[in-house]
Amino acid sequence: MQTNYVFLLNADKTFLNMVHPARARELQNKGKVSVFRVYPYVLILKNQVLNPLLHPCILKIDTGSKHTGFAIQSGDTILFRMELEHRGETIKSDLSKRAGFRNGRRSRNTRYRKARFDRKKPEGWLAPSIKHRLLTTETWIKRFMRYCPIETIEIEQVRFDTQKMLKPEIDGVEYQQGTLFGYEVREYLLEKWGRQCVYCGEDKIALEVEHIQPKSNGGTDRVSNLTLACHECNQQKGNQDIKDFLSGKPDLLKRILAEAKQPLKDAAAVNSTRFAIVKSAKKLCNSVKCWTGGRTKFNRCSQGLPKSHSIDAACVGESGEKIVIKTDQALIIKCKGHGNRQARRANAQGFPAVKNAKETYKHITAGDIVKVDIKKDRKNIKAGLYTARVKTPTKKGFEVLIDGFRVSVSTMKDVHFVHRNDGYGYEFQKTTICS
Ligand SMILES: [Zn+2]
Repeated sequence: MQTNYVFLLNADKTFLNMVHPARARELQNKGKVSVFRVYPYVLILKNQVLNPLLHPCILKIDTGSKHTGFAIQSGDTILFRMELEHRGETIKSDLSKRAGFRNGRRSRNTRYRKARFDRKKPEGWLAPSIKHRLLTTETWIKRFMRYCPIETIEIEQVRFDTQKMLKPEIDGVEYQQGTLFGYEVREYLLEKWGRQCVYCGEDKIALEVEHIQPKSNGGTDRVSNLTLACHECNQQKGNQDIKDFLSGKPDLLKRILAEAKQPLKDAAAVNSTRFAIVKSAKKLCNSVKCWTGGRTKFNRCSQGLPKSHSIDAACVGESGEKIVIKTDQALIIKCKGHGNRQARRANAQGFPAVKNAKETYKHITAGDIVKVDIKKDRKNIKAGLYTARVKTPTKKGFEVLIDGFRVSVSTMKDVHFVHRNDGYGYEFQKTTICS
């Protein structure tokens, strides 16, 4: 089991090279460093090192709608992996709930108000749920740039190469299995056919590239002859002609044949959030390189690496062609938000009712991370030392969530403070990749 490399700061808080966890432990045992931050683990030297030799690193980012993967690479090795879990869905549901309450309150027993039609969104406006994704990613880029010598940022910006893939149906682009270009075509087809089997509509399933007109029957590898099907449908169809296979479903046959000839609209390949993230990365770092998802997948599959968000990040770009992953443990960060400023929570009718008390217990606030020593076995929890996030502190104590169970703590005697609430929850994922 190999953990992430550790960030090391000079005594004046400028960054140094990341160190191996064993070296970090040695420095700590000798008393040469103090802990600067626990999540991610950052150490600070007590004595200044003059003119340190820095090895520049690459920060790699794979942005997704629910998760964003981060990886730090130095040479060919991945020293650090992290996954950021976004909370876009929570933000969206919270805001629509609030809008519902407001609409309800205002339409009840109030004078008629004229509709206001000049409510235009300013240019570059992003929905709050998406803006949060941008801002949290930006925060972590800034943090990493403070903690280690990052020279380049590499981002997966688009799903497939729009330059090469522009209207492949018309240009006669051909599919070659297993090549980098084959992966670009696959991503293109996924986007074009809506990530589902064209014959049965099954999604969340492994899809295979399928020749509409079978190759044995004179069908070509051109993109206009390709679609995606699940393994079962693909086997069932075999080398039948599509007209025979779909003889019982004339509507579906007509739709597939029409759509096959239709190139994907350019807009579908452009993802506003990813572009916004690249734009903000360019403000923070002078050297930003953008790559495609097809290349990421090609790199990952050709090296036989398992799929995870941080490994995808490690495989981004040309430098992802040959990587040595030096860490089994990705740091998993969950966006938790900072709560709200409501004095009173709304009742079912949208009126302020329940007092929204923000209490602390001996300086411990909600969201802090503490180590709790549980001395005796409890109902669902065995005795032992646990690291957990604080929930609902009151004047009498607080609760921590351990293995999904709420455990109440009412004394500071067995509690060791670890990390102040910063709007994130932290855990470690364990995968065995390194040998
Ligand atoms: Zn199917």
